[in-house]
Amino acid sequence: MKYEESLMITIQSFGATEEVTGSCHLLEINGKKILIDCGMFQGEDEAKNEKAFGFEPADVDYLLITHAHLDHTGRIPKLVKEGFKGTIYATQATQDLTYIILMDSAKIMSEDFSTRYKKALRQNRAKKLQKPIYSPLDVEKTFNQTEWIAPEYDNYYDLCEGVTFVYRNAGHILGSAFIELSYTINGISKTIVFSGDIGNSNKLVLPNLAKCSRANYLYVESTYGERNHQSIKKSIREFKKVITKTMQKKGNVLIPSFAIERTQEILCILKAMYENNELPKCKIYLDSPMATKATEVYRRYASELSLQCKENLQRDGTVFNFDALLYTLTPEASKSINDVKSRAIIIAGSGMCNGGRIIHHFKHRIWDAKNAVVFVGFQAKGTLGREIVDGAKWINIYGEDVIVKASIHTINGFSAHAGQKEIIRWIKRIKKLKKVFLIHGERASQERLKEVIEMELALETKIVKYAKKVLL
Ligand code: ZN
Repeated sequence: MKYEESLMITIQSFGATEEVTGSCHLLEINGKKILIDCGMFQGEDEAKNEKAFGFEPADVDYLLITHAHLDHTGRIPKLVKEGFKGTIYATQATQDLTYIILMDSAKIMSEDFSTRYKKALRQNRAKKLQKPIYSPLDVEKTFNQTEWIAPEYDNYYDLCEGVTFVYRNAGHILGSAFIELSYTINGISKTIVFSGDIGNSNKLVLPNLAKCSRANYLYVESTYGERNHQSIKKSIREFKKVITKTMQKKGNVLIPSFAIERTQEILCILKAMYENNELPKCKIYLDSPMATKATEVYRRYASELSLQCKENLQRDGTVFNFDALLYTLTPEASKSINDVKSRAIIIAGSGMCNGGRIIHHFKHRIWDAKNAVVFVGFQAKGTLGREIVDGAKWINIYGEDVIVKASIHTINGFSAHAGQKEIIRWIKRIKKLKKVFLIHGERASQERLKEVIEMELALETKIVKYAKKVLL
């Protein structure tokens, strides 16, 4: 029995099971505990962040992070706070972006808490109020008091006895990786791959997803398991058309945008338009301190970006900047955009319009038919962005009803995730693959992807269940 057990590794997933957020997968190999990602639950499942992990953080020896997005990193400060003393592995760019993302999330949570606290005091229920799962100080401690190691893409590293790993470029956001982890037990070696999130091959800012040539087992994301994206060429065409038309009638364009990756893609497209004389006379405002910080990180890692970005750098000495682009850093600078009456393109967060400066810009411009709103990212149920995309005639902004007269445009091709065809193509090239496990996707999307993988690739495919032990 002992021999049998020693041949196995176990894996349990404590997030991103039959849902998109909360990535957190615990492996046990040769008595060592290795965690892949430690993400936050977002949207409807937020309350789960407050619950226990389902394992003892102090027992975890290593944490390997695929990429910086909050749903892959958002519970790291909680892990550290609750006793994790191991080593964290993440590419250098991921470390830099993770710091920005975690700090932003800690600040939002603490601001939100102080608003709720004031309310609760008035209602005599302040004691019952749940505190945020971590503070900005906890984020500082996570970075200062824990050992972080930055693997380079395509280099092999020894993790512990009998376990090696390699990070490969996932082309999803800057620094993103899929991880090939190999282990040897009693002279038998196997490889398991964790995809993290894998990128849409549009080559706008990042190179395409790297090839995974060999693996026995695969844990793969399934966010868009049931559909394909519109081509990037068509999306860029649509985007240019809205910009040109709106500028011609002296209107303004509002673009709610995610700070990381999407904003840099939009900047690249606008810069190319500007340089090819396709951009009508206008001013572009990047009105998001977080996106500005992220753009600076992207610039620092220009050697990891697409050919177009590298060419920009070589030609102009800058990856994203051009004369028409302005960064508004202070609240005063942001407010001064309100004085601009026409020909402004305003890029601001949050991407789904559930907070951030974009709300103020809606208040000032969405009631005017000469303006346009361009959605370039997914809008989840329950967000203001979704309400507008679904055709709301009126929206409520800080207690005030505002009519929606601006033209509303949704452009679908800018996703940072691979669509179904791209996932299948990527898996198809993996040699020796025996079993596929689906994580990071809604149930319906996973069921469809499972069908397609089983039918087209004849591979056994499982939908991973929360905390259920998988033995390999
Ligand atoms: Zn992601």
